[in-house]
This record gives sequence, C-alpha cells and structure tokens, in this order.
Amino acid sequence: MNLELTPEQTAVRRLAADFTDREIAPHATAWDRAEQVDPGIVRALGDLGFLGLTIPEEYGGSGGDHLSYALVTEELGRGDSSVRGIVSVSLGLVAKTLAAWGDEEQKRTWLPRLTSGEALGCFGLTEPGTGSDAAALTTRAVRDGAHGDWVVDGGKMFITNGTWADVVLLFARTGGVPGHRGISAFLIPTDTPGLTRRPIHGKLGLRGQATAELVLEGVRVPAGAMLGPEGKGFSVAMSALAKGRMSVAAGCVGIAQAALDAALGYAGQREQFGAPIAGRQLVQELISDIAVDVDAARLLTWRVADLIDRGESFATEASKAKLFASEAAVRAASNALQVFGGYGYIDEYPVGKLLRDARVMTLYEGTSQIQKLLIGRALTGVSAF
Ligand code: FAD
Repeated sequence: MNLELTPEQTAVRRLAADFTDREIAPHATAWDRAEQVDPGIVRALGDLGFLGLTIPEEYGGSGGDHLSYALVTEELGRGDSSVRGIVSVSLGLVAKTLAAWGDEEQKRTWLPRLTSGEALGCFGLTEPGTGSDAAALTTRAVRDGAHGDWVVDGGKMFITNGTWADVVLLFARTGGVPGHRGISAFLIPTDTPGLTRRPIHGKLGLRGQATAELVLEGVRVPAGAMLGPEGKGFSVAMSALAKGRMSVAAGCVGIAQAALDAALGYAGQREQFGAPIAGRQLVQELISDIAVDVDAARLLTWRVADLIDRGESFATEASKAKLFASEAAVRAASNALQVFGGYGYIDEYPVGKLLRDARVMTLYEGTSQIQKLLIGRALTGVSAF
C-alpha cells in the first residue's frame, strides 16, 4: 500500500487533531471524574462530519475512505477513548451496518439523523449470559398480528451509548433453530414502550461513556424494523464487528500515541540524580518500546483500512490489528505510567486514565482470546471455539 496520505486524508486528520486538542483533551480528566462526557460533543462530532465518514453523501454522510475514518478515530482516541467510542459505535457499528444492509426507507429514516449527530445509535448484541458466544443469545422476537409486527423480549448487557442512544441495532432470535441461523437484526427506537435502560456505573475505564443494560419486555416493532433478511442477523453482526475492529484498533493507536507524547514530555522535564530522566537508558527503553508499539499498531490498522478501501477481504487482518493494537495500547499506557513514577498513579496526569481506558479494548468486540481463535481458524481451517 501507498503510505503517503492524500491531501484530503491529511486535511481530515488535521481537522480531527485540532478538534481533539481544543475540544476534547482539555476536558478528558473532568469528564472521567464526572463519569460523563459533555453531551454537546455528539452534535459537534456530527457538524464536523465525523459521524458520517464513509457514508454516501446522498444519505447525509461526509463520504471519505476508511483510511480517513481510521485517522479521525485515532485522533479522537488520542484525546479521550470515551468520545472515540461514541463514533466507533454510532457510525462504525450502526450507521455503516445500516448503509450496507438497510433498505431505502431505513437508510432515509436513520442515516441523515445518525450522521448529523441529531440521533445516536447503539449496538445490542451482548447479553447477561452470552458474550463471546454471541450466537447463543436468548433475546427472542416473535411475529404477532395481521401486519407482521414483531414482539421482542429479552435483555442486553454492556451497551455503549446505551442510555443516550435514539436507536438500537438489536439482535434477537426469530427462529427455533439454535445457533447463528435463527438470529435476525432489528432497528428499534429506544423510546419504544417496553424498552428500559439502566446505566452501568463503576467502570474501570471509559467512564465518560454512557454504558447501559437494556431490558425488553413486550417491545412491539413493525415488520419494517428488521435489518437484512430474516435469519441473517448473525451475518449482519459479524460484518459490523469485522469493520468495527479496525475502528477499535485505530482508537488503540490513539491511546498509544497519547502515552508516547505524555512519556516524552514528562521524561524531558523530570529530573532525578541531577539530570532529566530522559537521559537514562532504562527510561529510553520504556519510551522506545512505546514508540515501536505505536508504529506497529498504526501500520496494521492502516493495512486493514487499505484492504477495505480496495474492496478486498479484511476480516482476519482486522482481527490481527485489533488483537495487536489493543494489547499494545495496554503495554504503552503501562510503560508511560512507569515513566511518570508515582505521578502516573494520580489522575492529575493523563497516563493512569490511558491505562484504564485501554484495558477494555482487549475485551470488547471479541476478546484477545476470541481474536486468536478467529486468526487460528483462518490459518488452519479448523474451528477451535
Ligand atoms: P465471556 O465471553 O464470558 O468471556 C470470559 C473469558 O473467557 C474471556 O477471557 C474470554 O476470552 C474467555 N473465553 C470465552 N470463550 C472462550 C473460548 N472459546 N476459548 C478461550 N477463551 C474463551 N457488547 C455489545 O453488544 N455492544 C456494546 O456496545 C458493547 N460495549 C461494551 C462496552 C464495555 C465497556 C464493555 C466492558 C463491554 C461491552 N460489550 C458490548 C460487551 C463485550 O463485547 C463483551 O464483554 C465481550 O464480548 C466478552 O463477553 P463477556 O464479557 O460475556 O465475557
């Protein structure tokens, strides 16, 4: 691939970097302490076109390629992973999936609102009893009435954007068939009667993000709420997550870059034994390990973006990028914390938050173990799930 960015990619990256430095990074600690990012950030992201990247302009999107999307995601992740996650879910998992699988009416109804930030989306796959084994989900949708309405009962767990979202892309069992073949996808407005949301507090990281548990009791939706063909919901979910993993990986590059910036800044001005610690070999080892992780994670992520933009298969490469970048982000943040010494352990400095935010990246959208099983299956042809 050509690693030189086009003028458009350079411009969108600069736009995202400026926005991050001005509107996100200065508030990240306060939002983390308050357990909520400023809700106004959603509209601001929409105004800049960051919630519509890769979505065709006819549906209100801002167009652009996946490398631009990765660049913006990295910049947002450098500032605050809670903000980055808003985009990765509402655009990356919901709007992009809708653009790929939706019918004309669904696209016209939701995409302009999602891309402008007027509405926010969330992705409801995980349930209290089913995480990695998502195909075993038990939320059920049953046909009811002459118009082919569906009535949905069940529950969803750990849903990012959950309490803020206007629409949930929800996966439910519609057939008696166990496993992935009996699952369908639905677009359900979150104000539909019978759908309640409970905020989840006390998270280790991503504290600014509105994470929720969803409870569905007799939630009635019209036949037109189904996204994609009946029984194809698991394919819808897996296609969303494959692209989503690139977005998580890009966010992790942002965390690792923030760790590098912070470690370099601190090491240059902190003096011990009569000289800046930046001159100590063991501190340079910590810093160079972070720098290599940043570059390696970024290159793996860009490769996925490039494959998507060229229309080639990318799912296994996305798993590799997500696996490596998430583990690298944790390592990089931990190394940066070490450079800060005791000051890294208090939240007046940014590195502790980077480590807390990074930790979940190895868990969601498929844990590191699940990524290894996906890569292993692709390489050997044998499923070890
Ligand atoms: P489990 O699946 O119970 O796994 C527990 C452990 O067992 C892990 O270490 C796992 O790797 C391991 N394990 C499981 N199966 C195997 C196997 N076959 N071989 C080897 N090891 C295995 N979900 C959504 O649907 N939408 C969201 O927006 C969303 N946002 C999230 C936000 C946060 C902050 C968090 C924490 C989670 C979010 N999730 C979301 C859920 C997330 O995707 C799941 O937590 C994740 O898939 C893991 O599922 P689990 O927590 O049930 O763990």
